[in-house]
Amino acid sequence: MASNPGPLYEWPWEKMGSFKYLLLAPFAVAALTGNDDEDNWATHMLLMTAIRYLIAQFFISVSRIHAVTKHTRIQANGIEYKQIDREDNWDDFIILQVYVATLVHHLPYLGYSGFPMYNNQGLWHLLLFHVGPAEFLYYWLHRALHHHFLYKRYHSHHHASFVPEPITGSVHPFAEHIMYTAVFAIPLLGPFFTGTASISMFYAYLIGFDIMNCIGHCNFEFFPQWFIGIPGMKYLIYTPSYHSLHHSRVHTNFCLFMPIYDHMFGTVDKSSDILYERSITGNSVPVTAPDVVFMGHGTTLTSAFHAPFIMRSLSSRPFEEQWWMRLFWPICVMFALIMRLLGRSYINDKHRLRGLKLETWATPAFVIQFLFKSQWPWINSKIEEAILEADKSGVKVVGLGALNKNEALVRTLGSSGHNRKLPRVFLTCTFFRMEAESCSSINTQNYEFESYMGTLSLLRRF
Ligand SMILES: [Zn+2]
Ligand SMILES: [Zn+2]
Repeated sequence: MASNPGPLYEWPWEKMGSFKYLLLAPFAVAALTGNDDEDNWATHMLLMTAIRYLIAQFFISVSRIHAVTKHTRIQANGIEYKQIDREDNWDDFIILQVYVATLVHHLPYLGYSGFPMYNNQGLWHLLLFHVGPAEFLYYWLHRALHHHFLYKRYHSHHHASFVPEPITGSVHPFAEHIMYTAVFAIPLLGPFFTGTASISMFYAYLIGFDIMNCIGHCNFEFFPQWFIGIPGMKYLIYTPSYHSLHHSRVHTNFCLFMPIYDHMFGTVDKSSDILYERSITGNSVPVTAPDVVFMGHGTTLTSAFHAPFIMRSLSSRPFEEQWWMRLFWPICVMFALIMRLLGRSYINDKHRLRGLKLETWATPAFVIQFLFKSQWPWINSKIEEAILEADKSGVKVVGLGALNKNEALVRTLGSSGHNRKLPRVFLTCTFFRMEAESCSSINTQNYEFESYMGTLSLLRRF
């Protein structure tokens, strides 16, 4: 939230809550009842919207899978729950752009309709209108938004996220998105005036734009050194670490996607190249072992939605099964089967508490599997693997949570064929099992918290 919100700060549909998605209903009705126009406009708008959500979800998932990101993280700090809440309505701009494009489509005389599906020349025109006017105007609009008058009224909302996540790129007040939409309309209107417009340019521009925006905010570096080493490349395309500096240092690296404008106008951060090198080589945030690992597991099959890399917003709240999750039950069953066949314990989330580094790991099993004795050897082997891995990496305490510490199960730990004595961390977790015996609930959030408290008190004894 900006310190002094200006006019049109709030989105017009803010008070509608989740009912805002009804704004897309007229498009669905037109598409499904055969009342779409000759351009199949409503169908394209819906398809494009679906693709935009899928792109965002892809980047949300990848950026939160620690096995993928841990070696090239840019900023060490995690994301706080209040940031997740503040960014919950990151998708408002998708609805806005559907309506603005539809408005232009129906404008009388402008005739922003009746174009072919594809025009190769038009896509080149689109690119030229983007790298020229759109990037240039965005750069100066962004500089203006950093003037304290506009910054405290609007743009500080975006900068409240010091550590960005992929969808942070689209989190701005309504008035700011109106300004951006006006600038980003130029590459789409340009081909129209050169007579080369096509439906495909909407897909190319909006999808390309979203991908670049997610890249800039994903907080892990992945552009290969050979690619950035191509002469001139670092002026043409930004990297995740480049825009990360705009969030951590605020008044440098203003460009949209092309650093050339920062180089031209002297606003490139001097540490951009250094941070890129440090991030891509794993030296920006070196991988270190946590102090404490708490091992939970899935509860119901739909509890998979609670994983941070599946649903960012649900993972920040205590898990509650909602009706719509049951629609995804077949996918959840498939997920459980894949975990059964290929799964191993994984890092679910990382936290910091009282100066200690904590990690929640998850056994790749759901409650239903714990009910079958035939599954215990497999579950045990996964828990053992995790304990051995934690010990090897220097973890001080492992706490077993929920059914992972089921007495019948724990008694058989160490018998799964690992020809190694389970290490000292194991002793602490059986001890911890007794410590935490009173926590019978398997409600993940409360349980984790109580267990963490138990584990922390334990840690102090070592
Ligand atoms: Zn900014
Ligand atoms: Zn940003």
